[in-house]
Amino acid sequence: MEMRKIYDVVIIGGGPGGYVAAIRASKLGLQAALVEKAKLGGTCLHAGCIPSKALLRSAEIYANMKNAEQFGVVVPEVDFDFSKAQSRKEQITEQLYKGVQHLMKKGKIDVYEGFGRIAGPRSVLVEKSGDGILTLGAENILVATGSRPRSLPGLEPDGKYVMTSDEALQMTDLPKSIIIVGGGVIGIEWASMFSDFGLDVTIIEYEDRILPLEDRDISREMQRLLKKKKVKMITNAKVLLETLEKGNGIFIKAEHKGEEKSFTAEKILVSIGRNPNTENIGLDILDVEMDQAFIKTNEYYQTNVPNIYAIGDVIGGLQLAHVASHEGMIAIEHMAGNCLARLDPILVPKCIYSNPEVASVGLTEEQAKKEGFFIKTSKFSFRAIGKALVFGNSDGFVKFVVEEGSSQVLGVHMVGPNVTEMISGAGLAQVFNLTAMDIAETIHPHPTLSEAIGEAALAVTGMEIHM
Ligand code: FAD
Repeated sequence: MEMRKIYDVVIIGGGPGGYVAAIRASKLGLQAALVEKAKLGGTCLHAGCIPSKALLRSAEIYANMKNAEQFGVVVPEVDFDFSKAQSRKEQITEQLYKGVQHLMKKGKIDVYEGFGRIAGPRSVLVEKSGDGILTLGAENILVATGSRPRSLPGLEPDGKYVMTSDEALQMTDLPKSIIIVGGGVIGIEWASMFSDFGLDVTIIEYEDRILPLEDRDISREMQRLLKKKKVKMITNAKVLLETLEKGNGIFIKAEHKGEEKSFTAEKILVSIGRNPNTENIGLDILDVEMDQAFIKTNEYYQTNVPNIYAIGDVIGGLQLAHVASHEGMIAIEHMAGNCLARLDPILVPKCIYSNPEVASVGLTEEQAKKEGFFIKTSKFSFRAIGKALVFGNSDGFVKFVVEEGSSQVLGVHMVGPNVTEMISGAGLAQVFNLTAMDIAETIHPHPTLSEAIGEAALAVTGMEIHM
């Protein structure tokens, strides 16, 4: 076994956590190696954020074209070619993949193809099938191996009826009907996309509402809007796996309010969360502490072994690409002797790219009350926003949760057109402890969708203009 050079940091996993960490290391003058078993870019680029948004965009355009007449655009017949949507998705992914490869070269980051495994506190083995094993020396090791779809026992992907998001992204044809098990972020994005493509969609959700981690008002509004798109949603429902039958489509029962209900569709998509990739990567050799299946770290993403760090989906918490990247930068800075401010999960914007979109940052109304805040809330509807009417999409609203008295912003929650593009401003307001009045005094240009934010801020004191 040949011992290659000793790096300041060897990163295992080249997703948005790992490759961003590698770039930060290079910018700080650290010698970095990146080990990737599949393709640079990780889940986000190849099986997550980007491909799903490319398909969502195709679905949205298709739905808009079917409603084009209201804009004075007369399209005799709108048809859809899913294979073209798929190849567009592939092209976008490929372009970004090349971009990441270029960034690695530019940063003089050594990329090793193969399966990475910790062999000791200062060495990583890279195994490439048919190509032997090599050993990399490492002052520090950063584990960024990400996650994979969780499946229900008995409801694993079978190449025909049952899919997770991995298989759904590779579909060559669309079915006519689909059952989605799990009404969280990924489930709702798929539900929105499939219904825009014209599929018959049924969501089965275990909790009492879809999007159970969002503010209750947002869940309720999204439920209403999906219902308008004819999506069926069964909440408080538990899938009864022993009733699963496959044949001409898939047949399943769920327990709902003490009764058994039957559902049938051509396919079923299981979106019930993601498991971390922590197996066989040598964590046990060093007795790295775990928190259930996830790697346990401190605020600088250091494990109990001081020169072993872990970031991204593999440590749990908010499994988001921008979180993985941010954690990667904090970990690398710490290795370089700098202490960046810790990432406060409350300040992380969360987005759902359905049609219409959902975006939020900060505490929900329920969380704020639970934390003992005396609060006030306000809401402003996109119905009263000129730009939303111009867009032909005025569903949804902006909601503020503020501390009573000081009016300090505790949370901002939005559902509506393009809200994912507007949430960063609300995030900035929270990072700098701004009040609703500070936001109301910030000029929001007319006509823009962002006026709903200014109006919702004014509405905290009943001073809104257009309602
Ligand atoms: P990953 O992106 O999973 O990357 C880990 C990498 O490590 C992979 O490339 C893997 O091949 C490699 N690897 C694993 N084990 C080894 C090993 N032993 N040796 C070498 N390499 C290894 N997040 C958002 O923020 N916005 C979105 O819109 C969004 N949409 C999503 C849509 C879907 C359908 C899914 C599934 C996820 C979505 N996510 C989204 C979540 C996002 O993709 C993840 O949070 C993010 O990719 C996590 O980054 P990571 O670097 O921790 O891990």
